[in-house]
Amino acid sequence: SIANLNHYYGQGSLRKQVLFEINLQIQRGEIIIMTGPSGSGKTTLLTLMGSLRSAQTGSLSILGQELLNASREQMTLARRNIGYIFQAHNLLNFLTVYQNVEMALEIHDITAAEADDRIRHVLTAVGLAHRMDYYPSDLSGGQKQRVAIARALVSQPKIILADEPTAALDKKSGRDVVEIMEKLAKEQGCTILLVTHDNRILDLADRIIYMEDGYLVDRSDSEAIAS
Ligand code: ATP
Repeated sequence: SIANLNHYYGQGSLRKQVLFEINLQIQRGEIIIMTGPSGSGKTTLLTLMGSLRSAQTGSLSILGQELLNASREQMTLARRNIGYIFQAHNLLNFLTVYQNVEMALEIHDITAAEADDRIRHVLTAVGLAHRMDYYPSDLSGGQKQRVAIARALVSQPKIILADEPTAALDKKSGRDVVEIMEKLAKEQGCTILLVTHDNRILDLADRIIYMEDGYLVDRSDSEAIAS
């Protein structure tokens, strides 16, 4: 839940406002796609929602926890409920596919047997059960992105935040990646917020939100998006 959120970068005369009076309510289980021109503030909003950056004004709460002026500990706790998927997928090249996914479970208090079950389940769901012992350098872009999805979902987060997860993928792999993400997230009752420039996947959203020059515009009818 976001109310009257503004955000500024820089100090003094370099201070620049990049988000203006954002109001947004997202319900549990919704799949939201956020789109809009480059520089309109999408990533900034996503990082605020993901507790990767502190909210400065207004109100921003995730799963009932207010994050405005939150302490480091509160931010860390909030992040445990969130899975992140970024364009660069941030896989570690010296770890296998299995180990890359396993890393996401390190801070979670579960048995080794349960961890193994979960890792095998998500890797099967993303179609990479047969690539568990491969290294990222031996995978295609789409496969790497599917490992990133498996890693984000293995800890069974309540929220997935994805920034341009289909960039650098061809149309078919891009759709596949988002469809897999949605299927797994639905199975876990997870909410998804996905930032994209990719018009080809907009139809996969329950709701589309549009950013322009730091303002959030609700243009959920497809004609408005196309114009
Ligand atoms: P893109 O689609 O190109 O990724 P975006 O919509 O995600 O863009 P942001 O990355 O949120 O936009 O950037 C919004 C504005 O904030 C831009 O004017 C950008 O130059 C500025 N900005 C982003 N990060 C910083 C930063 N760390 N310090 C200063 N200004 C920043």
